[in-house]
Amino acid sequence: MVGSVECCVCVLERKEWMQALQQAMAEQRARARLSSAYLLGVPGSEQPDRAGSLELRGFKNKLYVAVVGDKVQLYKNLEEYHLGIGITFIDMSVGNVKEVDRRSFDLTTPYRIFSFSADSELEKEQWLEAMQGAVAEALSTSEVAERIWAAAPNRFCADCGAPQPDWASINLCVVICKRCAGEHRGLGAGVSKVRSLKMDRKVWTETLIELFLQLGNGAGNRFWAANVPPSEALQPSSSPSTRRCHLEAKYREGKYRCYHPLFGNQEELDKALCAAVTTTDLAETQALLGCGAGISCFSGDPEAPTPLALAEQAGQTLQMEFLRNNRTTEVPRLDSMKPLEKHYSVILPTVSHSGFLYKTASAGKLLQDRRAREEFSRRWCVLSDGVLSYYENERAVTPNGEIRASEIVCLAVPLPDTHGFEHTFEVYTEGERLYLFGLESMEQAHEWVKCIAKAFVPPLAEDLLARDFERLGRLPYKAGLSLQRAQEGWFSLSGSELRAVFPEGPCEEPLQLRKLQELSIQGDSENQVLVLVERRRTLYIQGERRLDFMGWLGAIQKAAASMGDTLSEQQLGDSDIPVIVYRCVDYITQCGLTSEGIYRKCGQTSKTQRLLESLRQDARSVHLKEGEQHVDDVSSALKRFLRDLPDGLFTRAQRLAWLEASEIEDEEEKVSRYRELLVRLPPVNRATVKALISHLYCVQCFSDTNQMNVHNLAIVFGPTLFQTDGQDYKAGRVVEDLINHYVVVFSVDEEELRKQREEITAIVKMRVAGTASGTQHAGDFICTVYLEEKKAETEQHVKIPASMTAEELTLEILDRRNVGIREKDYWTCFEVNEREEAERPLHFAEKVLPILHGLGTDSHLVVKKHQAMEAMLLYLASRVSDTKHGMMKFREDRSLLGLGLPSGGFHDRYFILNSSCLRLYKEVRSHRPEKEWPVKSLRVYLGVKKKLRPPTCWGFTVVHETEKHEKQQWYLCCDTQMELREWFATFLFVQHDGLVWPSEPSRVSRAVPEVRLGSVSLIPLRGSENEMRRSVAAFTADPLSLLRNV
Ligand SMILES: [Zn+2]
Repeated sequence: MVGSVECCVCVLERKEWMQALQQAMAEQRARARLSSAYLLGVPGSEQPDRAGSLELRGFKNKLYVAVVGDKVQLYKNLEEYHLGIGITFIDMSVGNVKEVDRRSFDLTTPYRIFSFSADSELEKEQWLEAMQGAVAEALSTSEVAERIWAAAPNRFCADCGAPQPDWASINLCVVICKRCAGEHRGLGAGVSKVRSLKMDRKVWTETLIELFLQLGNGAGNRFWAANVPPSEALQPSSSPSTRRCHLEAKYREGKYRCYHPLFGNQEELDKALCAAVTTTDLAETQALLGCGAGISCFSGDPEAPTPLALAEQAGQTLQMEFLRNNRTTEVPRLDSMKPLEKHYSVILPTVSHSGFLYKTASAGKLLQDRRAREEFSRRWCVLSDGVLSYYENERAVTPNGEIRASEIVCLAVPLPDTHGFEHTFEVYTEGERLYLFGLESMEQAHEWVKCIAKAFVPPLAEDLLARDFERLGRLPYKAGLSLQRAQEGWFSLSGSELRAVFPEGPCEEPLQLRKLQELSIQGDSENQVLVLVERRRTLYIQGERRLDFMGWLGAIQKAAASMGDTLSEQQLGDSDIPVIVYRCVDYITQCGLTSEGIYRKCGQTSKTQRLLESLRQDARSVHLKEGEQHVDDVSSALKRFLRDLPDGLFTRAQRLAWLEASEIEDEEEKVSRYRELLVRLPPVNRATVKALISHLYCVQCFSDTNQMNVHNLAIVFGPTLFQTDGQDYKAGRVVEDLINHYVVVFSVDEEELRKQREEITAIVKMRVAGTASGTQHAGDFICTVYLEEKKAETEQHVKIPASMTAEELTLEILDRRNVGIREKDYWTCFEVNEREEAERPLHFAEKVLPILHGLGTDSHLVVKKHQAMEAMLLYLASRVSDTKHGMMKFREDRSLLGLGLPSGGFHDRYFILNSSCLRLYKEVRSHRPEKEWPVKSLRVYLGVKKKLRPPTCWGFTVVHETEKHEKQQWYLCCDTQMELREWFATFLFVQHDGLVWPSEPSRVSRAVPEVRLGSVSLIPLRGSENEMRRSVAAFTADPLSLLRNV
C-alpha cells in the first residue's frame, strides 16, 4: 500500500490516501484503547464524562461515581474504580435527576432514589449537568447517526479522527466527536452551528441528511484541511487547548483551507457563487463561500436577487439548504479579530424561538405617534442562531428581511396600548433603524422579548435579564475618573431604577433615577452627553448613535421625573425630602427671611402656577434665581404643593391623631405624643415635616422684620398642612406646638442648631452688605464647580449654603465623584479668573458663598490638587521668621474695577511682608515705604496675564479693594518658582494666622440644614387674629379664586 502511494503522482489522490491512513490508524488506536480498557476491567470503553467522589445518603464513606455515556456507575472508591469493580450502575434511560438544595440532588429510578451531596454548589451543578447529559444520551436514538455514517468519511471525527462521531456542524457540514463539538461551540454560531446527531432529532430533515451524505467530512476536509502540516494535526487524544487552537486556525482563520482560484476577487467570487448554486456542485459552493463569496450578494436578477433565490429558482434544494445554514457564517480571516476584543462580540447564547408577529416597516426615527393596527403586517418570525428573520408566511423559504442579534443595540417595551396592538416591543439596531413588533397576547409578547434579549445580551450582562425591564441595551458611557475613553456598557431600565453592567469594574448598584442630584444633557446637538449625578458617582452616557440614545434619553428623563402626586413619588433629595420642597425652602431661606409677610402674602397667580408646574415636572432642573422669581411666588407655590398633596403631609390616616394631640393639656405629655406620632409617619413625610418646621423656626426668628411670628405662621400653615378650612384652630395649634418645641420634638442637637443659626446669620449679613453696596446679586445658589479642569464633563452643580467653606465644597465635589484622597493630595478649590489669566487657591476655611457672589462671568471655581502646597508647607515649617522681604518686579494697574489702562512696565522694587502689611520700597536702602497695604484686605492670585508681558513666568496678581469699593491691582514677578512659592506661602500664613492647611481633613458629613416651607393666602399684614382666620377660610373654600384676584 505504501508503494502505491509513492507511485501516485496525483496530489489530491495522495491526500485521500493520507486521510484513509489516518483514519485507519485512528480506528486501530481506538480498538487498542478499547481492548486495554477491557484488560483493566474497566466496564465501558469510553472515558467518563465526569468522575469523582460523592456523598450518598445512607453510606458512611463517600462513593466514587462516574458518568459514562448513558450510565451512572457507583464504586466503593477510586481504587475499585480503576480495578473495574463496581457496586452498581444506573441506566439513565430510566433515571431522572433533580436538584434538592444547594449541594444535594436526587437521582431517581423506578426502584430507588439516590440522594447525593457534592462538596460545593458548583460541583453539584457540574454533576447535574453530567447526569442530565447521560439522560439525554440514553434517550437519544442513533437512527440519524447510522444514516450519516453510511458515508465512510463521516464515521470518524472530521477534526481529530475519533470514531463514531455523533455531533455535527450543520453549516460547515462536517461530522465531529463530542470533544471537538465542545470546541466548535466555543467558536460561536457565526463560525460553527453545532447539533447532535442523536439528540437534536428535529434538526435532521431528509434534505440535511442528504447534504451530509454528499458533502460531509470528505468534501469538508478536502476544502478546510487541504494544507494541515503534520505537526498541527489533531489526534483523538489531543488536549482541549490543542484542539481549540487547531479548530480556531481551521475554521475561524481558514488557515488550512484550499484557496479558490478566484480568492481575493470579490466580484468574481460572487459571480461564481451565483453560477454554482444553480448546479449540483455543492463542493464548489462550499469553497466559494469559504473563500469569501457574498452569501447575500446581488445576482443582478431582480426576480431572484440573491444566491438563495437563484438556487430556489433552479430547484437546487441541497444548495438552498447549505446556503440557509450558512446565512450567518462569518468568512474566515487570518487576521480575524480575537473574539474578546469587543466584549459584545463574544459568543452569544443560542436562543431559538418562532411564531407570528405583527411588524411595521422599520423607521429611522423615534415613534412619536400611535401606529394603527393596519400599519402592522403579519409575519412569520424565526429567531435562531443569532438572527431574527421574518418571512411572508410560515412556508416561505426566503426571508423578507433579518436582524442580526449582534446588531441589536436596544430593546424597548412600550406601555400596553401605545399602538394599535396591545403589546408591542421595539428593536433598535446599530444601523439606526427601529423595528416595531406587536402582538395581542401579553404572554407571547413577553416570551419574544425574553428570547430576543437573551439572544443579544452577552453572558457578561445576563444579570440584567433576571428582572423585567422597559428598556435594555448597550450604550457608550464614561464613569468614575477615567473619562478619557468611552466604553460600552449594558443598561436596563425598570421603573425608576437604571441598572448598569460595565465590562470592567465591579457590579454596580442600580441608579435611583428619582434621587439623582442632577440629570442634564450636555454637549452640542451632534455630540450629546447625558449626565447622571448620584451621590458619589457620576455617569456619562454618550449619544454616539442617535436613535437609541434619544430613546434612552426620553425614557430616563421620564423615569427620573416625579411619578405621581404623593410625597414619596416626588423626585427626592439626599435626606429623603422632595426636591420640590427643598428647592423652595432653600430659596426662601436665602432670599425671603426678611421679606415682610413671607408666606402670608400671595404670589402672582400665573407666575405661581407656572412655577409649580415646572417644579412638579422636573424640580431638579428648576434653579430659582432672585430677580426672576419673587419670594412670594415661591412661597405660594410651596404652600399650594403641600395643600394639594392627595394624602396630605400628615397622611389621611394619621391626621386626626395629630389634631387630637394638640388638645392634650399637659405640655410634656403633648410633646411626647407628637414625637410618637412623628415616628409613625412614612419616612418621606417625616423628613419633610422636620425640614418644614425647621424652616418655619428660622422664619419666626426674623419676625421683627417679616412680621411672621410663630402664631402667624401657624395660622397660615395649619390649614395648609392639614388641608382644613382654617376655622378650627387645632391644625394651627399643631404647627405652633411643633415650631415652639422644634428642638425637642425633632431631637435637634446643639451642633445642628448652631450651624443653622450660623447659616442664617451669614445670609442676613450678606444681604445687608449687598444692599449697602448697591450690588445685589442674582442669587443662584446652585453653583457650577469643575473637577480638575473646566469642561462640560467635569461640571458639578452644587448647592452652596451660606455656611459652606472651601474645604467642605472641595470634599463635597470629591465625594460626589468618589475620588479618594491620598496623603499629599492637596485638593483645593481654586477661583479661576480667565480674563486675568490668574487663579487663587481658596483658603480651606473661606466661605464660598460670598466669593460666589463676587465672581464675574469670566471666573469659575475648580477643584484640583494644589501642586505647590507641599513645597509651601515645607518652607513655612523651616523658615526662621514670620516675615519675608526681597526684590520683586512690580507693575501697577491703578484703575477702577480693572477697566483703566495699564500704566508703564515692570520695575524692580523692594518688598517687606509682615503680619500686618505689605510695604513697597523704591530700593533696598529706602527708609520710607512708597506704598503700604493692610495684608488682610489683599487677594493674591497666582499668574499674570500675558498681555502685560510679565518679565518672568513666576508672577502673581494682587487685588486690593479699598473701603470705597475701589479696586486696585498690581502685578508682582519673582525670579524663580521657589521664590514665588515662598511669597505666596507667607501671604497665606499672615492672612490666616498661620493656619495654611487643615491639620486633618474635616471629613464630617456636612448635613446641610434642610430648611422648610408652607401655604398660600391673603392675610392682612397687621390684622387681628380673626381677620387673618377669615382670610384663610376664604382661601381654603376656593383657593384658586383668590389666586385669580391677585
Ligand atoms: Zn474530534
